[in-house]
Amino acid sequence: MKTLEVDHIIRVLSKLYPKAETMLRWKTPLDLLVATILSAQCTDKRVNLVTKSLFRKYRKPQDYLKVPASELEHDIHSCGTFRMKAKAIRESCRRIIDQFGGKVPETMAEMITLRGVGRKTASVVLSSAFGVEEGIAVDTHVFRVSRRLRIARGKTPEAVERILRKKTPKKEWSHLSHLLISHGRNVCIARTPHCQECPFKLVCPSSSVTINH
Ligand code: SF4
Repeated sequence: MKTLEVDHIIRVLSKLYPKAETMLRWKTPLDLLVATILSAQCTDKRVNLVTKSLFRKYRKPQDYLKVPASELEHDIHSCGTFRMKAKAIRESCRRIIDQFGGKVPETMAEMITLRGVGRKTASVVLSSAFGVEEGIAVDTHVFRVSRRLRIARGKTPEAVERILRKKTPKKEWSHLSHLLISHGRNVCIARTPHCQECPFKLVCPSSSVTINH
């Protein structure tokens, strides 16, 4: 079976998902940072429901620290793991104020010093809020689809990201991530991928479609 090239995958998926981008709603880099923290193990739809009022109440890093932790926990309760997420948001805000003059930092090295912010969250915020491509956000969809297509067979998200970065032009890093997320959500779903509907069904090493000659 022919090896699939990343640029071919980008071309094909771009046609299938011409509007692939983050579904999270945000206006400022801080909004996006908070929304991305909230989106861990939670749907974007739920996060958008919560942030609709959250972002009206909390506009600056200081706002998240002005209220008791329990109030923020209550406000984000329905996103799940709310204690951990509230702590991550508050400690990130504290650091943004103390170390970065109240502004969300614009480099990967600085971003990952914020609590609860790994390369995935940092990549999303850097590319969408600042147009800075410093990483490829590898979430559960990107991880699974990359491995099924065998474009990156790393055993951890970090390893998959390293391989994808080598194979993908930098300007396409966040685009690739959005495309693979869309494909993972719509076709190459976790339990039973819809291989019959997939444009790669005849070339994907993990395809369940058998070719009858
Ligand atoms: S052929 Fe099946 S396993 Fe391969 S990418 Fe498509 S949906 Fe996923």
